[in-house]
Amino acid sequence: MFLNLADVALRGGERYRRTHALELEPIVWGGVDYRVLVPAGVRVTIDRVTGGYLVSVALEAKMYGPCARCLSEAVVEVHAQQQEFAPTAKDGWEETDTSEFIKDLVVDVAGLAREALVLALPAQVVCSEACRGLCAQCGMDLNRGACGCSAEEIDERWSRLKDLDLGEPGAATGENEGTVSGEA
Ligand SMILES: [Zn+2]
Ligand SMILES: [Zn+2]
Repeated sequence: MFLNLADVALRGGERYRRTHALELEPIVWGGVDYRVLVPAGVRVTIDRVTGGYLVSVALEAKMYGPCARCLSEAVVEVHAQQQEFAPTAKDGWEETDTSEFIKDLVVDVAGLAREALVLALPAQVVCSEACRGLCAQCGMDLNRGACGCSAEEIDERWSRLKDLDLGEPGAATGENEGTVSGEA
């Protein structure tokens, strides 16, 4: 969906505001495909300002796909919005200063909306912030209860720690902190 700013023909102080239906291809996030629905569409607002146009997009998207921790079906709602300036005269503007989705005053609405969504994505898609994920040993969904091996595995790690000669407790941590503050 393309919108030509020249056709919108706004005068100074005027505003264009419209909602456009939007279909987006699945978004690949962390190597996994997430289906995206934008049931209410994308809200586009255009303001005529000195030297150009301010183009804003805002959308409420639902992403469907596996939880990054337990792999069960998760739905995440993402609110995204972005504003770009489109200069009427190219003079003095580098290609990199302006959005790649606005060329010669033509706005690629879906492209801009998709970019806004990607920038607003959470670090991980999870079914719930409290999701306990899968046991690394037996693969059991730990949201359904504790598995037999989790306690054993932790015991084993502790006993291995006891066997190691770590020298002074906390010495390694102290060293790391020193390096960080030295660089800063
Ligand atoms: Zn989960
Ligand atoms: Zn287990």
